Amino acid sequence: MAEYIEREAAIRTAVEAVDAGLATTSGDLAEIRDDIPAADVAPVQHGRWLKNERFKQKCRKCSECGFPSYFEFNHCPNCGAKMDGRKEDG
Ligand SMILES: [Zn+2]
Repeated sequence: MAEYIEREAAIRTAVEAVDAGLATTSGDLAEIRDDIPAADVAPVQHGRWLKNERFKQKCRKCSECGFPSYFEFNHCPNCGAKMDGRKEDG
């Protein structure tokens, strides 16, 4: 599984290593990379609003969890999917 780091933490760790005299070359910096804490991130789930045939009015549903909504939010209020997928006509 991929690990991610925060830019600020990486820069801070590198600057501290150089200031402390622990790193003077790119090889030194490569060796301290394990000292940089992993960032707490989750993969982004992508979805889109689909036609919802269960309702007569203009209701949509989330492509990922089926949550019905009359509004096309940027994120599904139920599962949190980022609604940036291709829109279906209608
Ligand atoms: Zn959803």
